[in-house]
Amino acid sequence: MPRVLSAACVGNGMRKIGKALALGDMLLCLALAGAYGYIHGAGGELKQMPTAAMVEAEGPEEPVEIRRIALTFDDGPHPRYTQQLLDGLKERGVQATFFVTGEHAELHPDIIRRMQEEGHLIGNHTYSHMQLRKSNREVFKEELIRTNEILEEITGQEVVYVRPPYGSWDKSFEKELNMFPVLWTVDTLDWCSSNADRITQKIVGKVEENDIILMHDYYDTSVEAALKAVDALLEQGYTFVTVEEILFD
Ligand code: ZN
Repeated sequence: MPRVLSAACVGNGMRKIGKALALGDMLLCLALAGAYGYIHGAGGELKQMPTAAMVEAEGPEEPVEIRRIALTFDDGPHPRYTQQLLDGLKERGVQATFFVTGEHAELHPDIIRRMQEEGHLIGNHTYSHMQLRKSNREVFKEELIRTNEILEEITGQEVVYVRPPYGSWDKSFEKELNMFPVLWTVDTLDWCSSNADRITQKIVGKVEENDIILMHDYYDTSVEAALKAVDALLEQGYTFVTVEEILFD
């Protein structure tokens, strides 16, 4: 998308033109200034007037380095905290990934729909938050299937991503269920702290490009910490994306 030239940038250009031309050529200079969208202001200074010519004059955009990170929230949706989090993310234009349990999705389908409408990615976190063990493989698989069905019924979309509770996973599920496990690179341990600022500091202090941050939209402190971290990291130039973009782009 073309970006209108900044005043400083065009101002420099004009100074160079002014130096290069003799006084008698200043009329030509002013004509050029007009073409670049400039007029004289009351104080004799050149004023910027955005025009189509300015946009064209810029040429191709310089490549901008994009540092991406993904926020992920497990265990919801929670009737109160997930809504607060969604409000905050919406205000900031930030997308996240939510790994929800089938049990909670059934209770709050409206929140699942809201996540989808607002561009977040929704993944499977089993039906009852069960941990995979050698003895319960088939029950675990049933929970994944049941949760996929619940989510697909609500969103009309196939569920591809799963975050196995406690990180226990069996690779053969990937082929059997056509699902992809998503772990994390930064564990905020938000569930065991009631100090939102400390959680925020942990995130902001640890995070690097392409990190996947593990949080839980099940605590007020997590929501507060997440939104404060988003503000700090946006200021540092990070872009928040869903895990799909980190894993496959
Ligand atoms: Zn969990």
